[in-house]
Amino acid sequence: MGGMTEQAETSRTAILTVDDDPGVSRAVARDLRRRYGERYRIVRAESGADALEALRQMKLRGDLVAAILADYRMPEMNGIEFLERAMDIYPGARRVLLTAYADTGAAIDAINVVDLDHYLLKPWDPPEEKLYPVIDALLDAWMQSDHRPVPEIKVVGHRWSARCSEVREFLARNQVPYRWYNSDEPEAERLLEAAHADGLSLPVVITPNGDPLIEPSDAELASRVGLATTPSKDFYDLIVIGGGPAGLGAAVYGASEGLRTVLVERTATGGQAGQSSRIENYLGFPDGVSGAQLTDRARRQAAKFGAEVLTTRNVVSLDVCGSARRVSFEDGTSIDAHTVILATGVTYRQLAAPGLANLTGRGVYYGSALTEVSACLGQDVYIVGGANSAGQAAVFLSRHAKSVTILVRGPSLEASMSYYLIKQIEDVPNISVRTCTEVIEAIGDDHLENLRLRNTATGDTETVEAQLLFLFIGAAPLTDWLDGVVVRDSRGFVVAGPDLSVGGERPRGWELDRMPYHLETSIPGVFVAGDARAESAKRVASAVGEGALAVMLVHRYLEKR
Ligand SMILES: Cc1cc2nc3c(=O)[nH]c(=O)nc-3n(C[C@H](O)[C@H](O)[C@H](O)COP(=O)(O)OP(=O)(O)OC[C@H]3O[C@@H](n4cnc5c(N)ncnc54)[C@H](O)[C@@H]3O)c2cc1C
Repeated sequence: MGGMTEQAETSRTAILTVDDDPGVSRAVARDLRRRYGERYRIVRAESGADALEALRQMKLRGDLVAAILADYRMPEMNGIEFLERAMDIYPGARRVLLTAYADTGAAIDAINVVDLDHYLLKPWDPPEEKLYPVIDALLDAWMQSDHRPVPEIKVVGHRWSARCSEVREFLARNQVPYRWYNSDEPEAERLLEAAHADGLSLPVVITPNGDPLIEPSDAELASRVGLATTPSKDFYDLIVIGGGPAGLGAAVYGASEGLRTVLVERTATGGQAGQSSRIENYLGFPDGVSGAQLTDRARRQAAKFGAEVLTTRNVVSLDVCGSARRVSFEDGTSIDAHTVILATGVTYRQLAAPGLANLTGRGVYYGSALTEVSACLGQDVYIVGGANSAGQAAVFLSRHAKSVTILVRGPSLEASMSYYLIKQIEDVPNISVRTCTEVIEAIGDDHLENLRLRNTATGDTETVEAQLLFLFIGAAPLTDWLDGVVVRDSRGFVVAGPDLSVGGERPRGWELDRMPYHLETSIPGVFVAGDARAESAKRVASAVGEGALAVMLVHRYLEKR
């Protein structure tokens, strides 16, 4: 573990002793504590079952066990049976059997069964001669072996399960460190055994406290890994809905300028930008910046100024309650504020063909993932979509890729792409257009390798080699919940400011004797920033800028109410 000292590391390391005779058990623990107590935690149990449970708990917490000392003669589960089961949980721990003289035969047999490191005859007085030299040697051997504590979150799952990928992505996007275990590796099996989990319901997420969460929801996960999900107040100056660049920008400016600010995010902060591997054109980052880095910094900045950031909370309604604006969540709870900034962005439409979800980010990209351009070098690239965004991407990528193939479902590009772009595409020799073609499956182990295509006219299918697939099938603002609440355009984008007024007149239903401010929606005190706004620029910089501008207008609104 980076930064963890050897001292701290060993304090998470235990020596466990189990003996059914409480007197003997205490005596063993006392002797061990006397010599090893400073460097190791001495854990004592009085039955095999109790000792196994203690091992399970330690396993889940990510603690280490260096040595296990078990009495041979115990009711229900003897020492050999116990050590055999303990090996399933801590195979690396050194094993010692404590025996009376009469049982040495059994102990010798056990050396083969449980791969015993040592057997100790009771009593062992004086320990300096008979106990410590043995344990010293075992601990030395253990220290030489490969052992590392895993105190962070552990995720046991199946590589190709969609929910397992979602959980990993959720943790990653929230900058929560975790260690991943594929369900078929031995350590995963040990963790599942320790969690009493059957391995059929995956993923199993083990918190740093050692609590196993079986198939947790995002909300459960968020609350258990230290992400805030519940508001601390019921009234704020400003509620920001959406944690992309616009929302984070608004939260930073709002909180830094003294507004009691809460940001509410449906999944994880970062929005679309958070999914971008490299944003090349954001001011001040000449070498580009990853979406994850930008998000992490912005979130820390918002927290530093005192903004509350709630994740996994989906806003489902917005109401006017006198001078307050009420924002409600899926579970029926709500918070009020003087003002609201809608920063809900857009969501790229997803194609439902098998394999695509799993390979997203690993050869399959949605939207303007042109940051993947370096990966295109010398590759066969496929693009799905017939609109200008697909055409522009094709021209751009053709400069780097070996070949670019545009797949269009319809019979031609004419209906959906600008004429100039169609001409441009025709002039680029390594771009080809396949009409009447759709992707029906994406195939690949760790990365996209093949696509299955279907001719929509004939129904014929074929499999092609493909390393990269970009999907440009449109982005939509998820604003249905605002239907009838604020004015939206025909595609669902929120209309604001001057765009609301027709011919210089005040918008219909607008009761104030002033015009709406620049980013103000048809509800006074409710503003919109970023991609969710009608006619917005769809850029990180403009989203951040609008977040800041919206806060300035919030101040003006609060002053002039
Ligand atoms: C892969 C990719 C690469 C990109 N690369 C670049 C680039 O290099 N340069 C550039 O300038 N732009 C780039 N863009 C575009 C840029 O990311 C967006 O313009 C920007 O993220 C818009 O910010 P936003 O805050 O308005 O919306 P979003 O980033 O879309 O964020 C909106 C947030 O609101 C949340 N939300 C939505 N509805 C609700 C609700 N009801 N309740 C709670 N939360 C909700 C969403 O979960 C989301 O997190 C890229 C986009 C993508 C997808």
